[in-house]
Amino acid sequence: MFLGHYGPSFGLRYASGGVPLWVLFLAAQFVDIVWSVLVITGVEKVRITPGFTASSPLDLYYMPYTHSLAASVVWVLVLGWLASLVWSRRGGVVVGVCVLSHWVLDLLVHVTDLPLWGDVHKVGFGLWDRPVIAFVLETAVLFIGAAIYAKHARSKLAIWIFAIVLLAIQMTNFVMPPPEESSQLAMMALSSYILFAAAAGFVEKKWGQSASA
Ligand SMILES: [Zn+2]
Repeated sequence: MFLGHYGPSFGLRYASGGVPLWVLFLAAQFVDIVWSVLVITGVEKVRITPGFTASSPLDLYYMPYTHSLAASVVWVLVLGWLASLVWSRRGGVVVGVCVLSHWVLDLLVHVTDLPLWGDVHKVGFGLWDRPVIAFVLETAVLFIGAAIYAKHARSKLAIWIFAIVLLAIQMTNFVMPPPEESSQLAMMALSSYILFAAAAGFVEKKWGQSASA
């Protein structure tokens, strides 16, 4: 899952008691942000195999530090605690839930490449091999989150346009050929996570929920 991860960020923003949307965008993709860095540095491994699943060419065969359930729980605790120092206990819980949501949503679409711990006992429900269902699910998660966010936003229209732009970017993934090198792929992923968080910050400042709520 790619842009569907932002569903929980949008949906939980109001409940967070003031954690900015861009922080929740980074939290929901935190596991993938670290993954990008670890792929670039050669610590975690991915092979690009066209047709590996019907929706994604990524054979994610080694990612124990980012996408194992055990590692995710550690990230949840660390980031939730850090966020609670900056915002509030409630903010910390919401950041933690966003970080954990990444693994849960990945579990639905990934093939059995998500380890429970270390690099063993891999799980994944494999919806990426059912591209229509995977796409509908991803869109639904993103839009439900955006709808919840829009309720408290200054411009509902702007939030919907933002969500639709995100969806359009997701769709270009299906038509664009994947890069050949895994490090190139990880660089692209990393820059898009930073870009999307920056965009979320901009959209929220101009049209979104106010900083205090
Ligand atoms: Zn992921």
